[in-house]
Amino acid sequence: KKWVEPQDPEVAKAIELEENRQRNKIELIASENFVSRAVMAAQGSVLTNKYAEGYPGKRYYGGCENVDIVENIARDRAKKIFGAEHANVQPHSGTQANVAVYFAVLKPGDTILGMNLAHGGHLTHGSPVNLSGKYFNVIPYGVRSDTERIDYDEIRNLARAHRPKMIVAGASAYPRVIDFPLLQEIAREAGAYLMVDMAHIAGLVATGHHPSPVPYADFVTTTTHKTLRGPRGGLILTKADHAQKIDKAIFPGIQGGPLMHVIAAKAVALGEVMRPEFKEYCGRIIDNAAALAQALSAEGFRLVSGGTDNHLVLVDVRSKGLSGKDAEHILDEIGITVNKNTIPFDPAGPNVTSGIRLGTPAVTTRGMTTDAMGRIARAINLALTSQSDAAKLAEAGEIVAGLCQEFPLYRDLG
Ligand code: PLP
Repeated sequence: KKWVEPQDPEVAKAIELEENRQRNKIELIASENFVSRAVMAAQGSVLTNKYAEGYPGKRYYGGCENVDIVENIARDRAKKIFGAEHANVQPHSGTQANVAVYFAVLKPGDTILGMNLAHGGHLTHGSPVNLSGKYFNVIPYGVRSDTERIDYDEIRNLARAHRPKMIVAGASAYPRVIDFPLLQEIAREAGAYLMVDMAHIAGLVATGHHPSPVPYADFVTTTTHKTLRGPRGGLILTKADHAQKIDKAIFPGIQGGPLMHVIAAKAVALGEVMRPEFKEYCGRIIDNAAALAQALSAEGFRLVSGGTDNHLVLVDVRSKGLSGKDAEHILDEIGITVNKNTIPFDPAGPNVTSGIRLGTPAVTTRGMTTDAMGRIARAINLALTSQSDAAKLAEAGEIVAGLCQEFPLYRDLG
């Protein structure tokens, strides 16, 4: 603010508005979090000025001795945290990380198995509108209609029938533990690579709150900005024998110069992940998600798969006579930010949906506890069952305002 405002008040104003939005609303978007001031400062550093195509010790530019230190720290921390043989910290985003793995080992037209977007998968796992769906022959798999959990029998049958080159696992809206040893078994039998995109659960994997895919997958990709609580970006972990292929796929394959300021912020965030406080934090994310799920069930909401094992809850809002789109809008009005989300076998399209996805990483960073989750569930229920009752909406708004005051964010920003 000190630097932007005098020079560019227009942009400074928008940043200030966003700061206030983050402070004064309850963030339940499952893929978001609040980074530490140290992470933010590293990202806002002079490292943004540096070109460093290549890798530490093998750059195509001079003057890389300091950024080499930074990238080596980030790589070493990532390897240590996840027990991986090799780490590439250069992907600009989770999408870039996934595309790099595809570029490293697949050819256009190859067959891949990926989780259906409508069942909780990600766009980059083979959606027809994404590069992954346009360049590869995608066979989607999903969840069972009775349990709403991943149908591993279906994956095995599809793998036997289609002999894919790769099985892509991982999800954006799946509230249950994923069975990586079983996926490895299925992939081995089919002679397929196994790629696990652990973007949503990476923090939980780092601290042992979700089983790790690293021993079982040929390639593990992640974003660094969700449960891992780092800057926006991507990361690839792999076995030593795939290391060169992956590094070449990122640069010069699909990217140019790395974002060294972001890599510095990744290094700082990974340093935080190594501290005991982060393990406690991830434990609280899970406790909070379980408490939120229980409280919402008690308020009469149906939860996809009946609950959660991780940081997110997928809520079927049809029981309140609403679409996901309506629910997102109403909650925004009372200061709770969520995203509409398809639920498995959703009769409504992706723009309307029958569900909302709620996650606890961001509110847990603010210090909220299981008691606060009960209050949030009450506010959600008040808003979604009494949309035309001004007094009830006001009561919901007061719950939100009270929680934001009790659990302040970035108190020292300014
Ligand atoms: N993979 C999964 C499972 C995700 O949920 C996401 C983001 O939502 C991504 C990849 C893509 O990450 P990015 O938005 O950084 O490209």
